[in-house]
Order: sequence, then structure tokens, then C-alpha cells
Amino acid sequence: MKLALIGFGQAGGKVVDEFLAFDARVDGGFVESAIAVNSATTDLKGLEHVPTENRVLIGQARVKGHGVGADNELGAAIAEEDSDEIQGAIDRIPTHEVDAFLIVAGMGGGTGSGGAPVLANHLQRIYTQPVYGLGLLPGTDEGGIYTLNAARSFRTFVDEVDNLLLFDNDAWRSAGESVGSGYDRINREIVERFGLLFAAGEVQQGDHVAESVVDSSEIINTLSSSGVSTIGYASETVETNDGLLASLTGGGETFDEGTATNRLTSLVRKATLGRLTLPCDVASADRGLVVATGPPSHLNRKGVERGRQWLEDETGSMEIRGGDYPLPDRDEVGAIVLLSGVTDVPRIDQLQQVAIEAQETTADVQASADEEFASLMDTGGELDALF
Ligand code: GDP
Repeated sequence: MKLALIGFGQAGGKVVDEFLAFDARVDGGFVESAIAVNSATTDLKGLEHVPTENRVLIGQARVKGHGVGADNELGAAIAEEDSDEIQGAIDRIPTHEVDAFLIVAGMGGGTGSGGAPVLANHLQRIYTQPVYGLGLLPGTDEGGIYTLNAARSFRTFVDEVDNLLLFDNDAWRSAGESVGSGYDRINREIVERFGLLFAAGEVQQGDHVAESVVDSSEIINTLSSSGVSTIGYASETVETNDGLLASLTGGGETFDEGTATNRLTSLVRKATLGRLTLPCDVASADRGLVVATGPPSHLNRKGVERGRQWLEDETGSMEIRGGDYPLPDRDEVGAIVLLSGVTDVPRIDQLQQVAIEAQETTADVQASADEEFASLMDTGGELDALF
């Protein structure tokens, strides 16, 4: 499906940059346009793939290009004040060709955390296409302010978008990795999953011999349950003779239907029961979509159908869709599982609990700081100020 991508804040911009690289690499064609919005000049300069004219600096009058310093109320305020600047960039994209908007933001920071929900609200009022969010939850070790920001942003963002796709940094960090290289790896993991999903909906009829190619309307229908979504992905290297050899031999002679079916079914299970972008109880999903990716000779309808039926049993949902995304040049077969409308998410409960505690502690600290300052300045009325 064709997306207008908008990266809000530093993390949002970096992930959108990575989406562009991925789209070019797989020749996906799912990015119609990409925009980066930020209040920090250096973050915008650091991007590699977002075109310079699509980088929008907001809040100049207030923060002079230096960012909002994890103050997401300020992030929301400047997004509101400078919505014309953002709209100016969106006006330059052919929105009639876009199937949906996707706003990407780190929810623990300031600019994206506060600005993304404001932009979602703005887009919903103007356009008829769905507006989706891709929110990045902070790690548990990032501290109270990031948790509080994320919990408040989540609460706001989920109401403003048609569906909020979530990625939990905490579930994906590795011990011993530096923050920088960690994010580079994590961003590739994010983009591989969400990129494959959206690219799947962009295969044109006739591109490849496909049994049942996923259509963008199937993605939109799956996401129309609103609420929160998560993605699972699993892949396996296969020997492929889809390329030169296939054209010499007539192709696919060694193709074993039974093996392909079993492989796809087990990949769907692995994708669902393995690490999700947002870990949750799969049974709580409202809708689902299974996409099989890889060389066409290794994809078959029966495998997708079996995987789909298995997911129906796991979720108890009757709304599980399925299809293919043929990728002739890959030597990997994969399964993407999109679970939409999930409600049993321990990480969100934990985030909200820690955020409430952080909010109470902040209020207590502020109250006692005010008291202590008053006592510091108290001279019992013996000294007068100059004026
Ligand atoms: P902003 O520029 O004020 O919107 O703030 P950031 O985008 O830097 O948001 C900070 C949050 O985003 C942190 O809490 C991190 O959890 C997360 N974050 C920062 N950079 C990255 C990144 O490159 N990738 C991912 N996945 N998360 C990031």
C-alpha cells in the first residue's frame, strides 16, 4: 500500500529514513512520500534519505532549533502552533495517491511524543484516508520522565489515530550493546517487519505469479479494529531455483508442495509465538493478517491457509486474513503476522503504573522543594528586599 510517512522527532525521523532505505532495497514502492518534522536542527541534518525539502523545522520562535528537551507538552504546543509549516510539506505530496498516513515517533521524548498526536488529529480532520501511528516505547531503564511522557503520549495518540502500531524498545534491546549501535539494529528490525507488511499490500497484479497476493484493503480492514497492534515475523533460508536456473529448467521442478506447506505453517506459529514488536497475549487480538513472503515457488495457498486457520484458533477471532507477498530475489521464506486490537498487554499496564508513580513523586518533590525554598528565604520578616 502507498504510504505518506511522517517521522516526528529524532527517533521518528531515523526510522522513516530507514524505511526509505528498505523500500529502495526491496523495490517495495510502498513509500509515496516521506517527511521529517523536528524542533532540533541537528537531528534533521543527520538524516540521510529524507529529501532536504521534506525536512520541516518547527518551534523556531520558541526553541530556536535546539529541541524541546523531553518536554512533550512543549512538543504538542509547537506542533499546534506550526501546523501550517507541516501542512505546507504535506501539500507538496500527491495525497490522492496515498492509501494511508503513517506517523512514526518515539513516545518517551518531547517533540515526537507531544507532536505526533497533534498531527494525527490535524490529518484526520483534513483527509479521508486512514491515519496510523507507529509508536516506539522507551526502555524501562530510561527513567521516570521518559516513562511518564510515553504513558501520556500513548493515551492521547491512540485516540487520534485509526490504529496505533507499537514497538517496544525494551523487549528488543540486547545486553552489552551501545545505545547508538543498538538503535541502528533495532531500527532495521522495525523496518523489516512493518516495511514487509506495507510492501506486501503494494504488489501490482501481474508483477509475479502469485496465488493470493495481499491487497492494501486487507491491511486496512485488519487495522480498522482500531486500538493497538503488534507484529510478529519469522523467516527461514531456503534453496531457491527461482532465478537463472528456473528459467533454464522451466522452473520449480524440485518444488515440494508438502514441505512448503509445513514450512509456512510452522513459520506462522513461530512468528506469532516468538518475539512480537509489542509482546502481548495473542488470544486478546481482535483481528489478524498472515502474510507469507519469499520466492514464489516456496509460497503456496495451502500453507497460508493452514497458518491462517491456526491463528483463528489461537485468537478465537473469525477475522483472520491471509495472503502472499512474492519476493523472487530472496533466498528466505518468511511469515508476517499482524495482530490488531490487542488488549492484554502487560508492558502497557507496567508503563502506566510506573508513570503514575513518577507523576506522584514529581509532585511530592516539587511540593517539598517549594517548602524548602520558602524556609531558606524566611528571615522572620527581619530583612527587606531591595524592590
Ligand atoms: P524527540 O526528538 O524529542 O521526539 O525525542 P526522541 O525521538 O529522541 O525520543 C526519545 C525516545 O525515543 C527515547 O525514549 C527512546 O526510547 C526512543 N529512541 C530514540 N532514538 C531511537 C531510535 O533511533 N530508534 C528507536 N527505536 N527508538 C529511539
